[in-house]
Amino acid sequence: MIRFDHASKRYPPGMNALADVSFEVDAGELVTVGGHSGAGKSTLLKLIAAIERPTGGAVLVHGQNVGSLKRSAIPYLRRNLGVVFQDQKLLFDRNAFENVMLPLTISGFPPVEARRRVQAALDKVGLLERQKAMPIMLSGGEQQRLAIARAVVGRPNLLLADEPTAHLDADTATDVARIFRDFQAVGVTVLIATYDNSLFPTARRLVLDHGRLQ
Ligand code: ADP
Repeated sequence: MIRFDHASKRYPPGMNALADVSFEVDAGELVTVGGHSGAGKSTLLKLIAAIERPTGGAVLVHGQNVGSLKRSAIPYLRRNLGVVFQDQKLLFDRNAFENVMLPLTISGFPPVEARRRVQAALDKVGLLERQKAMPIMLSGGEQQRLAIARAVVGRPNLLLADEPTAHLDADTATDVARIFRDFQAVGVTVLIATYDNSLFPTARRLVLDHGRLQ
């Protein structure tokens, strides 16, 4: 499903964020990416989502070399991809339902089917009753769950998350971790950057140290 083949990423002016990274993730696996702050975890996820391109080696997703994808092919890659990134902000002038609806509206989904999918996604993360709430009225954990609902509303087979439990208290973090495991249980491949080992005790763990896989 995902293959890094001696992948490197050097940001200008010469900072090596990832160096000679090789690994594979099979379909249906839940894998965590650990390592210190600045180890390259976000960069690794960004290469998979074609937000950044490798400067050496190759990154393959579904057998496709995403580093050399034409710009016009990127929306097709993203269609099968859900991302929960730290800097991916909710729209605070739209309610919970509208936040989750947005990606489907953008991709031109038929409205009746779209509404059904939004409600299914909100239900999966336990927010169906809160669909009319504005994000500001939601707790930190609920906002994170809303971001997950938005990431999965297109029913991706690959879900990427960058520190999804940062800034959450222990109980809320456990709750959010369970949601990711639920998606894995229904066949979604899940890759999570997290410094917190304890939340995914059974997951395979990749660890980065200054851009190198341990
Ligand atoms: P992590 O997610 O593990 O904290 P990152 O992938 O965000 O690590 O960063 C890895 C290294 O690359 C860090 O030294 C960071 O400062 C650097 N870096 C990340 N993004 C950029 C960028 N857009 N431009 C320059 N350097 C970057």
